[in-house]
Amino acid sequence: MNRYTPDPASTPATEIGPVDWNKIRSDFPILERQVHSKPLIYFDNANTTQKPVQVIAAVDEFYRRYNANVSRAVHILGTEATNAYENARMALARFLNVRADELVLCSGTTFAINLIAYSWALPRLRTGDTILVSRMEHHANIVPWQLIAQRTGATIRVAEILPDGSLDQDALYAAMTEDVKLLALTHVSNVLGTVNPVRAICKEARRRGIITVIDGSQAIPHRSVDIAAIDCDFYAMTGHKLYGPTGTGILWARREHWQAMPPFIGGGEMIKEVSFDGTVFNDPPYKFEAGTPNIAGFVGLHAAVDYLQPIGMDNITTRETELLEHATEELNKISGLRIFGTAPGKASVIAFLLEDAHAHDLAILLDLEGVAIRSGQHCAHPLLQFFGVGTTCRASLAFYNTHEEIERFIAAIHKVRRLLG
Ligand code: PMP
Repeated sequence: MNRYTPDPASTPATEIGPVDWNKIRSDFPILERQVHSKPLIYFDNANTTQKPVQVIAAVDEFYRRYNANVSRAVHILGTEATNAYENARMALARFLNVRADELVLCSGTTFAINLIAYSWALPRLRTGDTILVSRMEHHANIVPWQLIAQRTGATIRVAEILPDGSLDQDALYAAMTEDVKLLALTHVSNVLGTVNPVRAICKEARRRGIITVIDGSQAIPHRSVDIAAIDCDFYAMTGHKLYGPTGTGILWARREHWQAMPPFIGGGEMIKEVSFDGTVFNDPPYKFEAGTPNIAGFVGLHAAVDYLQPIGMDNITTRETELLEHATEELNKISGLRIFGTAPGKASVIAFLLEDAHAHDLAILLDLEGVAIRSGQHCAHPLLQFFGVGTTCRASLAFYNTHEEIERFIAAIHKVRRLLG
C-alpha cells in the first residue's frame, strides 16, 4: 500500500498574489514563432524550457561588455566576470536555501551525478554493498551507478512503483536494508510527473545511515524547493530546464562531504599549488570546478532566477497545476487515449499513448499542427518497461503555456487521429 504524504519541502506555502500571465508570456520571444505556418505551441518543457528576454539580454551583455575568464586576470574585465560568476553562485544558493560555498557549479545533472559516482561512491563502495534506485529514474541517475557497480562489485536494487506511477514507499523502506549505502532518487519524475516525498524519505534513509542523492532536474522548475529542509546528502539540478542556458547546473552537498571527497576532474582553478612532487587542491567548491566554467551560462542562469523570484515559485506551481488539470481532463475525454502517471499532486508532465498510433507518428503529425511534444523513451527505459510499452508521447507544460493552447492541442490530436484513420 502506498502512503503518499505531501512533501512539505515542495508544496506551496505562501499566499498567492495575482500574476499577469499574458504579460509574462510576452517575455519569451520564441513563443511568437510560427512553425509549419501555425503558431508554435511549445509543450516540450520537461526536455528544455524557453528563455525569457531577461536571460537572453544578460548573456548578450556579458559577451558585449565584460567577457573574460574567471579568477585569473587582474584586469577589470576579469574582475567583473569573476564577480558575475560568484554572484550567480550566491543567487542560486539563496534560491535553493543552501550555503554558496557548498554549491558546485557544473554543466548539469548528468555531470553532477557522475561527480558523486566517481568521487564519493567509487572510493567507498565494495562487494556486498547496495545502491538503491527507483524504477522511475532518468538514465542519468541509473547508468553512472551501473558503471560504479561494475567497478566496485556493488549491486543495484530497484525500488518499485505503483500502477498510478507513485513510489511504493513501503517497498522502498523495506528495501533499505543494512547493505544499502546509497539511495539515488528523483524528486520529480520526468515522465510521470510524480512528486516524491523526498524529505520524509531522506529522513528514513538518514536514520539508517544511507547517503541520499536527489535528482532535482524536474522539481526546481515547478515548485519552491528548500534543499536544507529536504536534508539530503546531495542535490543535483540542471539549469536549462529552469529557463537558463544549456550547459549549466549545480550540485549541492554539505561541506563535510566535499572535504572528504577527492576531486573528480583535475586541471586549472581546482588547485592551490602544483609541482611535479604533488598538488595542493583548492578549497571546495573550487576543488570540484576544474577548467574554465560556463561563465556566460551562469550569468544567464542568475538572470533566470532573478526573473522567477518575483513571479513566485508558488504562483508557478498553482498556474501549472491549473493547466495540468485542464489538459488532463480534455485528454481523458479522448477514447483510446491512455495517460501514464496519475499520482496525486503530480507536476505538469503528461505521458500518453493513443490507441493504434505510434508515438513518433503522433508527434510528427502534431508538429505539423504547430504542437511540439516529445515522443520516445524519455531516457527512462526501465520505467517504460514497467508499463509494458516501448515509447510514449509526452506533453509537458510551463507557466507560459495557455488554456487556449491546450484547446488547440486537443483539436490537433482529433485532427491527427482522423488522418491516421
Ligand atoms: N534527470 C532528470 C529527471 C531529467 O529530466 C534530466 C533531463 N531530461 C536529467 C536528469 C539530465 O539532465 P541533463 O541532460 O541536463 O544533464
